[in-house]
This record gives sequence, structure tokens and C-alpha cells, in this order.
Amino acid sequence: MIAHFDLDSFFVSVELLTQPSLKGKAVIVGGQNEKGIVSTCSYEARKFGVHSAMPMKTAIRLCPHAIVISGTHSEYSRYSKWVTKIIASKAPLFEKASVDEFYIDLTGMDKFFDPLKWTIELREQIINETGLPISFGIAKNKMVAKMATNEAKPNGFLQVPLGKENEFLAPLEVDKIPGVGERASQILNYHEIKLIKDIHNTTPGDLEKWLGKWGYELWNKAQGNYTSVITEYREPKSISKENTFQENISDINFLMSEIVRMTEKISFELRKEEKVAGCVTIKIRYPDFETNSRQVSIPYTSADDEIIPVAKDLFHKLYKKGMLVRLLGVRVSDLSNDAVQTNLFQNTERKNTLYKAIDDVKNRFGGASVYRASGK
Ligand SMILES: [Mg+2]
Repeated sequence: MIAHFDLDSFFVSVELLTQPSLKGKAVIVGGQNEKGIVSTCSYEARKFGVHSAMPMKTAIRLCPHAIVISGTHSEYSRYSKWVTKIIASKAPLFEKASVDEFYIDLTGMDKFFDPLKWTIELREQIINETGLPISFGIAKNKMVAKMATNEAKPNGFLQVPLGKENEFLAPLEVDKIPGVGERASQILNYHEIKLIKDIHNTTPGDLEKWLGKWGYELWNKAQGNYTSVITEYREPKSISKENTFQENISDINFLMSEIVRMTEKISFELRKEEKVAGCVTIKIRYPDFETNSRQVSIPYTSADDEIIPVAKDLFHKLYKKGMLVRLLGVRVSDLSNDAVQTNLFQNTERKNTLYKAIDDVKNRFGGASVYRASGK
């Protein structure tokens, strides 16, 4: 059994938490320039035919009174991680399919407790802790579970009991099957196939005739048959950057500036993942491919100005003076959750505010826009 979880109009829901005045209104999150695309919209906007991936121009034409916002992407990733953390603390095996979508493998769980009850409780926990609406579907495989979630939305849940797949699928329109786009539904509609039960009444041969080889796969999907495994989600164990130089380098100033550049990227990623690192490693490869590395434990941190001096110091201890360098790498490991560890420090709050300001700019304009003067 698989449970599929999907946050309801995720970006809009996050915005509603900070701007409750938007509640009940047609809200569209997306690009506001000429070529802007809708990333999410509220259910009130959906009623007017607005949907994700639609050009913003079309959306505004359909729903001229909609409130359009470009969104707070750092908040979306914070909430996405929050939900991931809750699921990871409960589910033995799960896959994070996107920022707001998860598959949980419930196989074997029924020996210990009722999977539906367990999933309802998990959903309630997510809603209570984060304030975000989320829906789920439970079924024998990923595809049927996802289709069940779509029917349960918004803010609901639905179980398709084993053996009842055809019954659940029959009344749904064919384009509810993942992978059936506009063109395929047009072809199917032309052959009087509008609902999935119409597919049940055809043969795989007919579908192959109309849609090519894919027709057979579609026929199978319409019976609720779908093979796909859960790709387990793993927390990163380390974050690293390395650079193989086009020419071998012996310019120490340049190598130092490379260390600064890579460490800044790593620290930025740490903060984005809400992690702190307790170990730094430097790796050097020489032109003859001899490769050395050296590491040291540090107090947990995600601050550039704490990691950079350690990385530079490690480099000086490891580097064989006068040698050309072919590859230079920095890695941080022994990662831990920010929330727990930063409480150990007193003086971090001011620094966190500073880094948050820097990271907000990086998030808005891309990573390259803010770097300290290099090498110093
Ligand atoms: Mg969603």
C-alpha cells in the first residue's frame, strides 16, 4: 500500500499564513513579467479556469480580479523542509517527489497498525504543526494513490481499497490518468472514449491502433496497473565543492580565493538546508594524481566567516609547498539540524540575522550576486 501526500495549492497556502487577508480571494503566484507563468493559484482562481503552468497573461484574462504575487520562495523551501521533517520522523520509507508531494510506503505496516488511521494522524500532525492544508490518497500503487489524492482535494483524503481500483477509476475522465495530455484526450474523445470506464470497454489493441505503442501502457494504467517503486529520500550526509583546474595552479592567492568561493557556496547551501556542519575537509590533487585530504572537527556552524579560516588553515597544513595543484576541494560533513544546534551558541543571533539578509538577496538574485571580496 502506498500513501500519496500533496500540499494543497502549496505556495498560495504559505502566503495565506502570513497574509490572512488573502483568504477566500482569487490569488495567483507566479511571474509577473511579459512571459510570466502561473506557478500556483488558489481554488477561488481555479474556478475561473486558471491553473499551474498557464501563461500569466491568459490567467489574468480569465480572472481579471485575481491578486497576483510573485511569491516568497525561501519561505516555500522552509515549509517544504518542515513537512519533510515531520514525515521523516514517522514514515519508515518515503519518497519526496517534489517540494509539496510525498509517497510513503505502507507495505507491511498493517501487521502493526491500521495504515489508514496512521495516515490520518500523520496528516493531522502536519496540518496542526505547519498550518498548511494537505490531502492524501491511499491505494495499491503510486499512480492510483496520486489519482485518489487528486479526487480528495482540497483538504481531504481518500482510500481506494485493494481490489476496488476499477470501481474508483471507472467514472473519472480519461485525462485524470497521469500522462494523458490534451492531444491524447482529443484522440480518445474522437473515438468516444471520455471516461476511464470507456477504456475498460475497449481492447488494448484498439488503444494501440489509435495511440501507438503507448496505447497498451494506457490500457494497463486504466486498470490501475502501474509498477513503480519508492525512491527513498535521504538527507545529505555532506556538502562539497571541488574544482579541477584547466591548467595546473601554483598561485597561492588564486587557490585561496577558490577556497573562499567554494566555502561560501557550501555555507549558503548549509543555511538553505537549515543545517550546521561539525567537520571540514580539504582535498588537494597534484598533477601526478596523488590525492591528499585532511579534516578537522569544528564547533557546529553554517557561517562563512567561521568555516573559511579553518579551510584555509587546513590547506596550508596539507599543501606541499611549490607543487602545482590540479584539483582543489572543500567538504563539510557531520551535518546536523540547525534548530537544535544553534541554541548552543549565544552570539549567533546577530550573525544569523546578517546571513539571513545576505541569503535573501542570494535567493532573489541568484547565488552569484553576493560574495565577500575574495581571497582576503
Ligand atoms: Mg500540491
